[in-house]
Amino acid sequence: MDDRTLIYEKSVAGRRGYTAGGTVKSELDLLAAIPNRFRRTTDADLPEVTEGEVMRHFIALSVKNHHIDKGFYPLGSCTMKYNPKLNDAAASFTDFKEHHPLAPCSSAPGILRLMHDLSAYLGEISGFPHVSLQPVAGAQGEFTGLLMVRAYHEFKGNKRTKVIIPDSAHGTNPASVSSVGFTTVQIKSNERGVISPESVAEVMDESVAGMMMTNPNTLGIFETHIKEIAEIVHAKGGLMYMDGANLNANMGIFRPGDVGFDMMHFNLHKTLSTPHGGGGPGGGAVGITEELEKFLPFPVLEKSDDGQLFFNYERSHSIGRVHTYYGNFANMVRAYAYIKTLGGRGLKRASENAVLNANYLKAILSDDYELPYQVHCMHEFVLSGSRQKKAGVKTVDIAKRLLDFGVHPPTVYFPLIVSEAIMIEPTETESRETLDGFIEIMQQIAKEAQENPEIVTSAPHNTPVRRLDETGAARNLDVCYKG
Ligand SMILES: *Cc1c(COP(=O)(O)O)cnc(C)c1O
Repeated sequence: MDDRTLIYEKSVAGRRGYTAGGTVKSELDLLAAIPNRFRRTTDADLPEVTEGEVMRHFIALSVKNHHIDKGFYPLGSCTMKYNPKLNDAAASFTDFKEHHPLAPCSSAPGILRLMHDLSAYLGEISGFPHVSLQPVAGAQGEFTGLLMVRAYHEFKGNKRTKVIIPDSAHGTNPASVSSVGFTTVQIKSNERGVISPESVAEVMDESVAGMMMTNPNTLGIFETHIKEIAEIVHAKGGLMYMDGANLNANMGIFRPGDVGFDMMHFNLHKTLSTPHGGGGPGGGAVGITEELEKFLPFPVLEKSDDGQLFFNYERSHSIGRVHTYYGNFANMVRAYAYIKTLGGRGLKRASENAVLNANYLKAILSDDYELPYQVHCMHEFVLSGSRQKKAGVKTVDIAKRLLDFGVHPPTVYFPLIVSEAIMIEPTETESRETLDGFIEIMQQIAKEAQENPEIVTSAPHNTPVRRLDETGAARNLDVCYKG
C-alpha cells in the first residue's frame, strides 16, 4: 500500500497534472499585467503529480474524516441528517449564484419572491406573522431576538436588566443574553426534566425583560407548561423567547406562536436541509409577533402598493442591521426547496419520524445505559454513562470506541445537568437497519465496558489517527507543510 499521505511526498520531478497544450492568450495577458516587483524569481516548489494521483489523493483524504454521506452521525442537538442533493443543486443555479447582492431589487424579482415565500412558509410552520431571514446562525438569531426585546422595553420606557433561562437551555442562550447587556437568572428544571411554573413565578418581577426557553429542551423533552409560564411572564410585562433550533421535532405538530411565545429563531441549517456542524454558513431566521414588527432588523422585505417586493431601509424603530445584505441566500434556497418538495404533510412526517426514531433507540438502549429522565423524548434523548464509569470506562471512551465502528459519536458531556451525558439524535432520515446496527454496537460497547474495559479505554483502534490532543491542536494550530 502507498502510505505517502502528503501530496508533496507523491511528487516525482517532471510529472504533469494536465493535458491541455500551451497557455491561453488571456492568461498571458494577465501575467503581463503583473508588475516585475511582484513576480517570482524562482519556480514555486509545487508537487509534480498526474491528474489521476491528485484525484486519488483527495478522495482518500475525504474518506479519512467521518461525514454524513459516509455513515451514521447521531450528534445530539445538531440534526446531522441526510440532506437531499437536489436542494444543493437548486442553491447552485447560476442565476442564484451569480446575482450580485447589491444589484437593484428590480433585477431580482424571483430571488425576492423566493425569500418572501420562504418567510411566509416559516411563518405558517411557526405561527408568527413576521419572519426575518437576515441572521446567519442560531446564536445570531438569539442575539437579534434579544436586541428586539431590549428595543421593545426601551420603547415602552421599561427598565429591564435580566433574562430567565432554565438549566436545560442551550449554552448559546446565556451567551446571547450577555452580548445584549442583560444578565441571566438561571432556574432549575424539575425531576421530570421540564420547567415548572412555580420556579418561574419565584424569580419573575419587573426587572426581568423576558424568558428564553429551549423547546424541546436539551434533554430532548417537550416543555409541558408553556401556557402557564407565558402567562406569568406576560403578567409582569416580560416577553417569551423560544429557542427553536430543533424544530424538526415540531413541524406540523406544534406552533410556538399559538401558545404564548413572542418570538423564536429557526436553524435553517439543521432542520431545513443545510448540514450543521461544519462551522459553515447558517440560517438563523427569526419569527416575531405583530407587536414586535417595528423593531425588525433592516432591511425588511416588503411589498409596495403596486405589489412589487423591495427592501425597506427606512424603519425608524429598527434594531439596525445584523448582517451584510440579507443573510445567507443559499441556505434559503435549500430550505425553500426542502419545504416545497415535502409539503405540509411531508414536514409533519419528517418530525414524526425524528421523534419515533429517537424513542426507538431510547427504549432499547436504556437496558444497557442509565436513562436519567424516564419520559417520552422528542427528536433526541440523553443517556448517562454512569454505569460504565463504575467499571472504569468514561463517556469519552465510549465516544472514541464508536469511531472504530464507523459511527460518529453522539454529543457528550452536554447537557451539563446530566453526569457523563450521551446525547443521541438519530434524525428522521435513518433506516430501521441503521438504527438496529447502532443498537448492536452500543450493546457491544456496554458489554466490553464490563468484560474488557481496556479495549474501550484505549480506543479508537481503527482510525487514521488515535486520540488527539484536541486542546493542543486548537491552541497551537499549525497548518503549514514543512518539507
Ligand atoms: C444549535 C443550537 C443553537 C445554536 O445554533 P448555531 O447556528 O450553532 O449558532 C441554539 N440553540 C439550540 C437548541 C441548538 O441546538
